[in-house]
Amino acid sequence: MNKNSSNIMALAPNTSNKRETVCIFGTGDFGRALGQKMIQSGYSVVYGSRSTQISNLIPKDAEVLGHAEAAQKAAIIIIAIQRQHYNFLTPLAEVLRGKVLVDISNNLKLNQYPESNAEYLAQLLPGSKVVKAFNTVSAWALQSGTLDASRQVFVCGDDVEAKQMVMNIVRALGLTPLDKGSLLAAQEIENYPLQLFPMWKFPIFLSLGLTAFFFFYCLALDVIYTYIYENNNFSFFIAITIPNRVFPVMALILLALVYLPGIFAAIIQLYRGTKYRRFPDWLDKWMLCRKQLGLIALAFATLHVVFTLVTPMRAFVSWRTSKGIISQALNNKTEPLNHTNAWLSDSYLALGILGYFLFVLLGITSLPSVSNNVNWREFRFVQSKLGYLALIFCTAHTLVYGGKWFLSPSAYKWYLPNIYILSLIVPCIVLVIKFVLIIPCVDKPLTQIRQGWERNPKYSE
Ligand code: NAP
Repeated sequence: MNKNSSNIMALAPNTSNKRETVCIFGTGDFGRALGQKMIQSGYSVVYGSRSTQISNLIPKDAEVLGHAEAAQKAAIIIIAIQRQHYNFLTPLAEVLRGKVLVDISNNLKLNQYPESNAEYLAQLLPGSKVVKAFNTVSAWALQSGTLDASRQVFVCGDDVEAKQMVMNIVRALGLTPLDKGSLLAAQEIENYPLQLFPMWKFPIFLSLGLTAFFFFYCLALDVIYTYIYENNNFSFFIAITIPNRVFPVMALILLALVYLPGIFAAIIQLYRGTKYRRFPDWLDKWMLCRKQLGLIALAFATLHVVFTLVTPMRAFVSWRTSKGIISQALNNKTEPLNHTNAWLSDSYLALGILGYFLFVLLGITSLPSVSNNVNWREFRFVQSKLGYLALIFCTAHTLVYGGKWFLSPSAYKWYLPNIYILSLIVPCIVLVIKFVLIIPCVDKPLTQIRQGWERNPKYSE
């Protein structure tokens, strides 16, 4: 196939139903699913198998031959066989010379072998052109047609023409090829389906750890302490009250942790007087998972909103309200409206609503479909400027809500501070240092450093 014809196919994949013959080695789950999809897309499929008996599992219209015979019928051979069996291909080296071999294999563990499966195949058969593709698509997705989640097919290989031929097949099957370059990229492509939320691990473990810590902290102070010293059984606090204390605290701390690495980075750059030295590994990793931290913080903030909205439905709240009314009636005395309290409650609600609105805006703009439609400056404006504004609103929301308790001795049960005091430590540190960093005499050298200026150029060597 010459280059021009492949380009035409790429632009108009459905102009003809007749396509070339493709050979698939292996009649296992993936070989059968891919073969079926190829036949539907107009390809002729011939299987190379250890057994030439046609079973009813093999797609109708496909031929099944011995490996050597099948390979002779096609220019492209898809190797739908596990890597550990690749040795059987060595005696077929002559038949496979000049052919395009598509390695679709995956491993069971990350970096299981010193070289990728595709590179190993290329070493076994140096006369063939090896292309890595299709390993991120599952047999089940091909069979059931639910390809929405895995529509993208990573392709890599050293022979450009061979890679184009494979990419044309990918397009003809209704998938989107993504050229990842030479065969050196195969290891990364093979590791891809084995990763389990790589960027989410640290944020998830951190959130679980902090949530557990704050939950038991509240349990000790709000339930156990009250039971021991006041003989009140508030164990039902476990369902709504304590979670609704932990959720906002987590949202606030995680939001502050999104901005803390940026603060560290600025301090390190100012100290070093250059931006041309790598940050410590821990800081690099932390910076890379800021989006995930922010999204988990948004999830906690949303839970806080929902838990707060159900508060009036709680039996405990109705009991406490009616108790207040009855006591006023019994004493024949109406409590006057406390204007300070009215101001405080309206203010913290307004700050919370504004903070949550900005929080949601940050979450929405971090979605690829939205962030792809804004330029870098717009993205930074939302994520940095509006992000800090969200942090200010949420910190102020907590301060106004919990402020009156901070000075009260009853807030210090067992000499431990109230959970809201703890939640303010990291956000306040972030906001105070940020405030120092935007003072012109600090901001100016920092901006210069970020534009490439160096205090001592020897650092850039
Ligand atoms: P499978 O169902 O076990 O099929 C493997 C096929 O390899 C067998 O049906 C057999 O075909 C052939 N084979 C087995 N032992 C062999 C040997 N000693 N010598 C020569 N051929 C041998 O496996 P699969 O799920 O189709 O996976 C095949 C490859 O696709 C693997 O490398 C896998 O990592 C990759 N993959 C699979 C999926 C998936 O969803 N299943 C997704 C992406 C990638 P014959 O009996 O016809 O010879």
